Amino acid sequence: MSQRLCPCQSGEPYSVCCQPHHLGAPVDSPEALMRSRYSAFAMGLADYIHESWHPETRPAQRPNASAETSEQWKGLKVLSSEADAQYGYVHFCATCRDQGRWYVLEERSRFVCEGGRWYYLDGEPESRELKPGRNDPCPCGSDRKEKKCCGA
Ligand SMILES: [Zn+2]
Ligand SMILES: [Zn+2]
Repeated sequence: MSQRLCPCQSGEPYSVCCQPHHLGAPVDSPEALMRSRYSAFAMGLADYIHESWHPETRPAQRPNASAETSEQWKGLKVLSSEADAQYGYVHFCATCRDQGRWYVLEERSRFVCEGGRWYYLDGEPESRELKPGRNDPCPCGSDRKEKKCCGA
């Protein structure tokens, strides 16, 4: 299992991509934090999502991770990222499957660095439904047809 690919679709094994951050290693960029938060959503690591959220903007309640909802996170595409010493932005699309329907969430997230540590600050997500045909390429990014992949 240690060689399985990271949910953030970096192409790297989880053990060298997001796992070290989930185990406490600091991230060195907003994009790395964004990726590790996405992987935490995909894996249901609610504590990590909570702790990487800036204390001023984090929800009072621990956020739901996918272990507690019917959402399944199926893919991440980072469209652009930039950072200076204090603020960073990551523009991304995340693909989600929920009760047989597909959604894409697009957000330009804002991150802040405080005390040498990056936090997620906020963002305005826009989500839209995808309607792939059963014979179309699966939205999760595999090379298989939807009906033979996530829709099977
Ligand atoms: Zn990763
Ligand atoms: Zn799929």
